Amino acid sequence: MRILLVEDDTMIAEAVSVALKDAAYSVDWVKDGTAANSVLEQGEHQAVLLDLGLPKRDGFEVLRRLRLDGNRVPVIIITARDGVADRIKGLDFGADDYLVKPFDVNELLARLRAIVRRQGGQAAPLLSNGRVSLDQATREARCGDAVEQLSAREFSLLHALLLRPGTILTRAELEERIYGWNEEVESNAVDFLIHGVRKKLGASAIKNVRGAGWMVEKSL
Ligand code: CA
Repeated sequence: MRILLVEDDTMIAEAVSVALKDAAYSVDWVKDGTAANSVLEQGEHQAVLLDLGLPKRDGFEVLRRLRLDGNRVPVIIITARDGVADRIKGLDFGADDYLVKPFDVNELLARLRAIVRRQGGQAAPLLSNGRVSLDQATREARCGDAVEQLSAREFSLLHALLLRPGTILTRAELEERIYGWNEEVESNAVDFLIHGVRKKLGASAIKNVRGAGWMVEKSL
């Protein structure tokens, strides 16, 4: 799962990036509002962490443009502005959540999990297609009798598939969800991850659609 972090404070950005990467997200970082809007037009990210006080274009303006463009990507505002008026404005401009700095990074991660699973149409913390299930907080996956801890990348892969059971994701789509801008992607990286997940959960956990990509089956 790829997150766009929009933050001009380098220290905060680095701390948040490290925490997100530890939690198996891939993170891309931009430092101003104009860059944020142009990156978000590409639709590569599954959630946005948005500071309000930004160079060139502030966070409210970024959010307003995003929603005017019809972009529904979940947004959590992360800001030092704790006034009620700003909170209301942020939510009314289309943010999904609002977190005041300084915050506990574990709270940020929990809020992120909550909005991401709601975006996938699921309220329960366990993402499942009825056969394979994935705990987003612990990275534990289950399929039949198998209960396994997934690596960060394996988790990202299975998570992307489980958000849309019955939908085939191509190699390029999976790579886009798993890896950030600065990460070198080996040509067989996705195959390697698929192999790893199947080894842990059984070959039937992920279906290969020859020549097209991979999917998890939609529950009946
Ligand atoms: Ca700022």
